[in-house]
Amino acid sequence: MKKTLVAMMMAGAALVAAPAGAQKADDANGIIDQGMNHSQVMVIAQEMTDGLGPRLTNSPGMRRAEQWALDKFNGWGLSNVRRDGFEFGRGWEIVSVSARMTSPRPLALTAIPVAWTPPTNGAISAPIIVAPMSKEENFAEWRGKLAGKIVLVSLPADGSEPDKPAFRRLDGDDFEKLEAFRQPKYDPEALNRRLDRVTFPEKLDAFLKAEGAVAWVRQSYRDGKLVHGEGYNYRAGHTLTLPGIELAAEDYRRLARLAKSGSAPQLEIDSNVRFDDSDTRAYNIIAEIPGTDPKAGYVMAGAHFDSWVAADGATDNAAGSAVVMEAARIIKALGVRPKRTIRFVLWSGEEQGLLGSLAYVDKYLASRPGPAEGEDGNLLYYGWPNRYPITPKPGYYDLKAYFNMDNGSGKLRGIYAEGNVAAVPLLKEWLAPYASLGAGRVVAATTGGTDHVFMQSVGVPGYQFIQDPLDYGSRTHHSSADTYDHLKAEDLRQASVVMAGMLLASANSDKTLPRFPVPSQPSAYDPFKYKDPNE
Ligand SMILES: [Zn+2]
Repeated sequence: MKKTLVAMMMAGAALVAAPAGAQKADDANGIIDQGMNHSQVMVIAQEMTDGLGPRLTNSPGMRRAEQWALDKFNGWGLSNVRRDGFEFGRGWEIVSVSARMTSPRPLALTAIPVAWTPPTNGAISAPIIVAPMSKEENFAEWRGKLAGKIVLVSLPADGSEPDKPAFRRLDGDDFEKLEAFRQPKYDPEALNRRLDRVTFPEKLDAFLKAEGAVAWVRQSYRDGKLVHGEGYNYRAGHTLTLPGIELAAEDYRRLARLAKSGSAPQLEIDSNVRFDDSDTRAYNIIAEIPGTDPKAGYVMAGAHFDSWVAADGATDNAAGSAVVMEAARIIKALGVRPKRTIRFVLWSGEEQGLLGSLAYVDKYLASRPGPAEGEDGNLLYYGWPNRYPITPKPGYYDLKAYFNMDNGSGKLRGIYAEGNVAAVPLLKEWLAPYASLGAGRVVAATTGGTDHVFMQSVGVPGYQFIQDPLDYGSRTHHSSADTYDHLKAEDLRQASVVMAGMLLASANSDKTLPRFPVPSQPSAYDPFKYKDPNE
C-alpha cells in the first residue's frame, strides 16, 4: 500500500515537472504565492510585539530586538547583515509604575512615566496643585506656590469625544484629495517658531526644580484611558531632573475638578524607571540581497523599528518592520537574483526625529552644513532640512528608489509621488500587478513625518505608501492600546506582497525613477510677510 502510494506520487511528480526550457513563474505570481500561501508576517510581528515588547531607542528592549532582527535576517540567508551605528544618547526603560489618589478617597489612576524622566526612588506622596504652564511667561504666576507639591502642568482640556468612526478605510473622496499637486510653501520663520516649542520642557523642569516641586503630571491627549508617555529629553546632560508622569485624561480632569471644588487631592506616585548608559549609540539594522550588476546601484525598503513604551509598538511600527522583513524573506525564498542590490533597513531613533534615516542620509547620500551628531533630535528634525547648500556624497546617485512603511497596519492603497510628477508613470507601472489587490494608486501629494523625508529633502527618490488608516490615528498611534491585537493579518500579507513586488520591479527595471535637481535654498513663499510678534 505504502509502496504503491509512493510510486503513484512519483509518477504524478514526473507528470507535472516543468519541461526543459519552460518559462519560470512570473515574479509577481511568485511573490503572491510566497506572501499569501506561505506568509510569515504575523509570526514575525507577534515575536516583535508580544515577545520583544516596546523598543524605545537605546533601551535594553531595543538591544534585544536588534539582536533578534540580525538573527532573523541571517537565518533567511540574507547578505551583509549588520548594525550601522550613530550617536544618540541615553537608554531608559520602565520597570513598573503606580499612581493613586489617597485623599479625599482612595483611587487607582492610569499612569505612565514620561520617557527619560528620572525615577521617584520609592513612593512619593504629596498634595497636587493645578498650574497649567505652556510658555516661560506663565512661570511668574506660580512662583512661590509649588514647593512640596505634585504639579499638574496641563490645562484640563474638554473631553475628546469621537466624531468619526474609530476604524476606517480610505474611499473615493480621500483619494481625490490626495491626487492634487500641492505647491511647496517655504517659510524661513517656521523653524524659529518650532524651536521655541521644543526647548520648553527643559525650561519647565528647571523652574519646577528651583521652586521645590517634587514631581509633575501631564494630561493624556486622548480620552478613553489611553496614555502615551512620549518624552524627548534623552541626551546625556539634558535629561529632566524631576519625575514626570502622564495620567489618563479622565483621571487628570477628575483631580483638577476636585482641586477646584475642595481641598487639594493627595497623590502617591511610584515611578520605577531606570537609565542604561552602557552604549550611547543607536543602531540601524541593515541586510541585503546582492544584485548581479554592481554598477546598477541599489533599491531599498525601510521601516522604523523603534517604538514608544506605552504598549508593544505594534502598529507603530512593528507593522512596517514586519512587512520589510517579510518582503526580504519572500524575495529570498523566490531564489531570484535581482539586477540591483536590494537593501532592507530597520531604522532606529525615528520617534525622536527620524534620526536613524537622517544618520544614513548624512553618512551615505548627502551632507548639509552645520552640526549633526550629538545635536538635539528635535532641533535636527526641524532644522536640518533648512540648511543649504546640499553636497551630494559618492553614494548619492546609487540609491535608485526607497520605499518606506510607517502608517500602521492598514493595507497599502498606492504610493505618494511626493510632487515628483515625472515619476508617476514608472511608479504606476511597477504597482500595476497589484492594482487588483487595491494598491494601484499613485498620487502627486507629499506625506511627511517618517523616514523617507530626509531623503526627499536632499533630492533622493524616497517614497511612502498610502495606507488605510484603520484605528491608527484614533486609538493606537503611540498609545497604551498599540498591541498585536490591532494588526490585521490580511492587510499585512497584502502589504508584504506589494512591498516585495515594488522592490523586485525597481531592482530589475531597465528604467530608474526620474529625480529632482539637487535642491537649493528656496525663495520665501511670501516675501512680503512681517514677523508676528505673538508667535
Ligand atoms: Zn512610526
